[in-house]
Amino acid sequence: MQLQLQHITKAFGHVVALGDVSFSAEAPEFICLLGPSGCGKTTLLRLIAGLSTPDSGQLLLDGEDLTRVPARQRGFGIVFQAYSLFPNMTVAENIGYGLKIRGRKPKEIKERVGQLLDLIRLPHLADRYPYQLSGGQQQRIALARAVAVDPKLLLLDEPLSALDAKVRTELRAEIRELQKRLGILTIMVTHDQEEALMLADRVVCMQDGRIAQIGTPTALYTHPANRFVADFMGVSNLMEQSSVRRWAGHLLNGHTPPEDYIACVRPEDIAIRSGATGARVKEVQFLGNLSRIQLEWAGGTLIVQEAGRTDLVPGVEVGIDIPAERCAWVAPQ
Ligand code: ATP
Repeated sequence: MQLQLQHITKAFGHVVALGDVSFSAEAPEFICLLGPSGCGKTTLLRLIAGLSTPDSGQLLLDGEDLTRVPARQRGFGIVFQAYSLFPNMTVAENIGYGLKIRGRKPKEIKERVGQLLDLIRLPHLADRYPYQLSGGQQQRIALARAVAVDPKLLLLDEPLSALDAKVRTELRAEIRELQKRLGILTIMVTHDQEEALMLADRVVCMQDGRIAQIGTPTALYTHPANRFVADFMGVSNLMEQSSVRRWAGHLLNGHTPPEDYIACVRPEDIAIRSGATGARVKEVQFLGNLSRIQLEWAGGTLIVQEAGRTDLVPGVEVGIDIPAERCAWVAPQ
């Protein structure tokens, strides 16, 4: 199953929600549409779902043009952010709903519902109503309902955002496991970079209605295309080229980046040397397994992350090592 988006645009009045978006994805990929509020992720997901149509561009599934095919004829599974189970149906009836309206036999429906309840590890909840379930359970059921009909494509619109942190982490792992097991091409909207890093085979990072970068989580983290992606994909130390030339010339290491490119170094790639000089500890934040240390040096402020660092207190003079191979050169915008 291959999905192709070709030069998709969509405007709402004067607001360009999507400007020329193109990418392809293939089963069994898990794609995350990632970006800040208003960057166009939901608009793009709704277009893929068939809940709205683009102003221009095409959407193809295995070469077939679906651009103007309505949602109910696309056969996609969708899970929304808000729990969207039918309140007057039991869990089993919710999961079996799609099969029932497709005219499947009661025995077949019962079997499939049973399989899915086992898969989401909630076999004991078949006869409950949605109001008798926790948020996490409701989203698991919504997921089971979405995949019950063997959809060609699974679309997830921030399905975890209403849940508390612990349930969210558990459910992330479960979604990934279920998706891998079923091998369905899945596209999920999220504004949570950690979620995207954990779930996605490839991340589509969006900026102002355009794709800023598309690639594996590792590629986006270690080689962000621009300042926006670097910032969005976690904590980064961004240094103007003028300060790199002056204070950390070794980072250039034979590179001649375009003049306006900036250096990006991740906090865990910088080592702090006690008993040396060059930087001063400004602040130490204890994060449990890690310490986040803010340093002042001639090139400005640096954020460093190290495990088990208890010897550092504000005001202490230290040295820093920044390995040149850990420095990525990124476009300014
Ligand atoms: P969020 O994470 O906040 O949901 P998003 O990345 O999903 O944001 P979209 O909902 O796709 O962003 O919106 C993209 C842009 O299009 C925004 O500027 C938004 O205000 C605008 N927009 C979206 N839907 C409509 C609409 N129906 N009418 C007018 N403007 C809209």
